[in-house]
Amino acid sequence: MTATPAKRLFIKTYGCQMNVYDSERMADVLRPLGYAPSDTPEDADFVILNTCHIREKAAEKVYSELGRLKALKQEKAARGGGDMTIAVAGCVAQAEGEQIMLRQPAVDLVVGPQAYHQLPELLARTARARGERLAADFAPDAKFDALSADRAVEGPTAFLTVQEGCDKFCTFCVVPYTRGAEWSRPAADVLAEARALAERGVREVTLLGQNVNAYNGPGPDGEIWSLARLARALADIPGLDRIRYTTSHPNDMSDELIAAHGELEALMPYLHLPVQSGSDRILRLMNRKHSAAQYLTLIERLRAARPDLAISGDFIVGFPGETEQDFEQTLSLVREVGYASAFSFMYSPRPGTPAAAMAAPTPEEVSRDRLLRLQALLTEQQVGFNRAQAGRTLPVLFEKKGRHGAQAIGRSPYLQSVHVDDAAHLIGQIVPVHIVSGAQNSLAGQLRQPVAA
Ligand code: SF4
Repeated sequence: MTATPAKRLFIKTYGCQMNVYDSERMADVLRPLGYAPSDTPEDADFVILNTCHIREKAAEKVYSELGRLKALKQEKAARGGGDMTIAVAGCVAQAEGEQIMLRQPAVDLVVGPQAYHQLPELLARTARARGERLAADFAPDAKFDALSADRAVEGPTAFLTVQEGCDKFCTFCVVPYTRGAEWSRPAADVLAEARALAERGVREVTLLGQNVNAYNGPGPDGEIWSLARLARALADIPGLDRIRYTTSHPNDMSDELIAAHGELEALMPYLHLPVQSGSDRILRLMNRKHSAAQYLTLIERLRAARPDLAISGDFIVGFPGETEQDFEQTLSLVREVGYASAFSFMYSPRPGTPAAAMAAPTPEEVSRDRLLRLQALLTEQQVGFNRAQAGRTLPVLFEKKGRHGAQAIGRSPYLQSVHVDDAAHLIGQIVPVHIVSGAQNSLAGQLRQPVAA
């Protein structure tokens, strides 16, 4: 990734020592986005007035300063110096709110004292509104890059990218900065690609997006299609029997999508729905915009629609400020949900994200211990879920040859690997398989009776 050209930040601080401290914090959260301090507003790309309400006529002074900044902004643009972003922070921002932007339209952002950690998010949104993308020295996120890459078609399953970008701005994540705003592919393009895949023998597609359930793409009928609507249209494609999607944000799980899980046979009963933490305090620090209780209610509603829905999750332990009590709440949420599988990580700061500038990092040995405890519980649940399949007959889509003889490996509806002897001739087909046993990462099954190719 190339280095970000330095941008200049000028903060004018009014009032008390508290405001001086806040200005330093604002400079800290903006530094990773490439903003270096400037001594004057003239050459600044971003000017913040950190205001104080104590003195009389404080607001009037701010407005007259804003008038001067407006002239500077216009002059900078006229000489081809680029955009100047103007923000009002502090007590006047708190007191006057959006009124400031109505009275002085040159102001791009108004940010109250409780929201300084959101400055990178607010700035990125302003840049997007101008059609810019905020560049920063973020390391690419391997997980999301891997998820959004289209894969070559091999066998009967394929990934299909339908959405990119994210508007959620979780404080630990670089995606909203590196991938930009949420964007959905036109439904007709997705359907055409899916039809072509089905013609090449693909029986299962996994719809991909960094925030896939926020999908709202233009439909061929001129309407905006939701993910549920897209899934219904995909399910009508002959030969396409299975649909999955990943990754979802709990807040984009619409009523329509929940209902689709109960109604659409092709929608597989397995959902990856990250929650990251079971503590409301940590969820707030992560800017996840939902509580643990809201997540649990959502799981209940999904299971009411589709009782056998298997849930998978993502967890971060050791987020800055996470206490033992916060962590216990994560364990308790995990016990309540009962996960079929999960990814869990120790928090590691991503440069440029608001969380990277947060105080109170969790000591590594504490995080490591919590990760081990969480993973022990998640593994126990995964093994339990897999073992519970023994004795059932599941439809398995055979994907590839196994290691031994004519063994084949397929996928259950719950995304478990299923190993079956003498089934290599069935690759590409969905066949009922009697599950004999379940282990941590796979199931062993048998064909009830010989099945012809
Ligand atoms: S919803 Fe996902 S992609 Fe978006 S900011 Fe949060 S973690 Fe990153």
